[in-house]
Amino acid sequence: MSSGTLTIDLNAIVANWRALDAMTACETAAVVKADGYGLGAAEVAGALAWAGARQFFVALAEEGAALRRALGPGPTISVFSGHMAGDTDLIRAHALVPMLNSVEQMARHLETLPEAAFGVQLDTGMNRLGMEPAEWAAVRDLAPGRTPALILSHLACADAPDHPMNARQLQLFAEITAEAGVPRSLAATGGILLGEPYHFDLTRPGIGVYGGLPFIDAHPVVALDLPVIQIRDVVPGETVGYGNTWSAARPSRIATVAAGYADGLIRAIGRGARVFAGDVPCRVVGRVSMDLITVDVTDLPEPPEALSILGRHQSVDTLAEAAGTIGYEILTSLGRRYSRSYPA
Ligand SMILES: *Cc1c(COP(=O)(O)O)cnc(C)c1O
Repeated sequence: MSSGTLTIDLNAIVANWRALDAMTACETAAVVKADGYGLGAAEVAGALAWAGARQFFVALAEEGAALRRALGPGPTISVFSGHMAGDTDLIRAHALVPMLNSVEQMARHLETLPEAAFGVQLDTGMNRLGMEPAEWAAVRDLAPGRTPALILSHLACADAPDHPMNARQLQLFAEITAEAGVPRSLAATGGILLGEPYHFDLTRPGIGVYGGLPFIDAHPVVALDLPVIQIRDVVPGETVGYGNTWSAARPSRIATVAAGYADGLIRAIGRGARVFAGDVPCRVVGRVSMDLITVDVTDLPEPPEALSILGRHQSVDTLAEAAGTIGYEILTSLGRRYSRSYPA
């Protein structure tokens, strides 16, 4: 096997979704945008649908279409980007529910698909997607008899429980939707952990389902094992990799493994990352290159055949921290060259 092996534990994904579901008294959806945070939207959503999830969210209509093909009719598939120009046929053909983000999208939807379901996304301060409260007030009577299937908004600082932004957004959301009389959703993973007032009728966890922070009690979901291509000995003073950024301070043994930044192991991990031979940690040395990483394996009793970069000893968030990023980015960057396995 020349490529790395990415093992994705669908049972852990189901367990995480159930644990998040058990924290609320309301319905729990699942966010499977960006191909299920890089882990395979069809596989992830299939497992969660089997476990009882009935609502899924994607970012784009194209993702919704692919997900509908995988799930078949039945589950609700909602689209965060709403009803964009050119999306009408996809929305109709795959019975997608666009979360309308603007007056313009609302007009487009009511005009082109007057019978089709829709949701409304409101901006409560993040200033990224959604109608402003005043816009919502102006358009809500535009379509008498056409009530949204869902009203949602998104928290900007939910991963920081003490941030005053959380309560501000909660209050505004509760205020402007109080009279709406339709299902409401405010919480993603972070919002679920903020507690009951944030839950409303539906939660939309993504990262927690995939085993990432801020859900600290999550079951780990991914393991990534990288085969060693070659091992060499270097003498003190010899350098390793592009730019000669590492030089041996002692007689050293260097293993070259088959993955690099083209596989999502971004260059920035080089500075602090470790990989594991069984239980033994080994340092990444030198620069991460496109297809290869070099590792100091001097202290191992035997030359390793493979090294683990994600798994029992190192979570996605630990690796992300070594690289100065977040687990979301590491997960969604995991490359296409790995051989992916979904053990039963
Ligand atoms: C991505 C996203 C989510 C899921 O967020 P997590 O932090 O991954 O749980 C929920 N709602 C919206 C609008 C999103 O963009």
